[in-house]
Amino acid sequence: MQQKTEFRIDIEGIINIIRRRGVRSVGLQLPAGLMRQGRLISKEIQNQCNIPVIIAGKGCYGSCDIDTELLGMVDLLFHFGHSGSDRENLIFVEVRSTLDVSPAIESAIEYLEGDKIAVVTTIQHIDQLDRAKTILERAKKEIMIRMGSGDGINYPGQVLGCNASAVDPRCDEVLFIGTGLFHPGGIALICKKKVVAADPYTERVEVIDPESLIRRRWAILAGAIDADVFGVILSAKSGQYNKELADKILKAAADHKIEAHLILLDEVTEDALINLGMDVYINTACPRLVDDMEQVTLLNPDEFKKLLDLRER
Ligand code: SF4
Repeated sequence: MQQKTEFRIDIEGIINIIRRRGVRSVGLQLPAGLMRQGRLISKEIQNQCNIPVIIAGKGCYGSCDIDTELLGMVDLLFHFGHSGSDRENLIFVEVRSTLDVSPAIESAIEYLEGDKIAVVTTIQHIDQLDRAKTILERAKKEIMIRMGSGDGINYPGQVLGCNASAVDPRCDEVLFIGTGLFHPGGIALICKKKVVAADPYTERVEVIDPESLIRRRWAILAGAIDADVFGVILSAKSGQYNKELADKILKAAADHKIEAHLILLDEVTEDALINLGMDVYINTACPRLVDDMEQVTLLNPDEFKKLLDLRER
């Protein structure tokens, strides 16, 4: 049975996996945008398979963010909305939006100034890239949709907030199809290209200028030059945990006679960092967290390296 929502979730496929494997308990992990589907999926599993289901109450941000606690409590965990590599007791369930992206693409055309357009999207809209291509070619644009690389990248044109390898560097501009500024902001910073973001839900279009984002990061970096006490953030999330990188940063800090402390965090929030009371934090978790901070300075490792260079001058 396909669920009738704006999302397409193959519940029948999930039921078949549960029956085939004979599992006795199941966990469901969903990102915030799909959280309300949890109870519907849970009900269907309970009705058809008569086994207990636990829904992870906290949201998740990517395939890098597996609820390992819940994974240890159930026979099988289904992680929805992101693509990744299945493991013995972990299955990634891709979810597709049923919304037609055409009106948003039509609205975006007037903002595309270049000829060569890299078209990218998230997994939810990946099936509609061909439709976008047809519309844009009608507008005399040359369309570039290429396969990226890295964990969680399974389709040509697919991007993550931290992975824009699907963007062909020869393009003039990027068209992102999807919601919010998380992905297009990341693409603009990584690729240093203008990004036109077309939201299929609101049909609104936003233009992201990489220069202003880069200037903002440099201003934050400049403000951190004279900082005394540094915190190095180590993520407790399994897919973001990078102790090797954290150790390298600690060593670089020690080599430069900088006071630095290692901090383990699951959710890297501004409140948590304010509470720790250090001057500047270096982030080894999701690289996009730096954009969430307004009152504290959080730098990515490459920015910390630039900071050390600036301090030596
Ligand atoms: S590291 Fe951040 S941007 Fe990358 S997949 Fe995870 S949550 Fe998304």
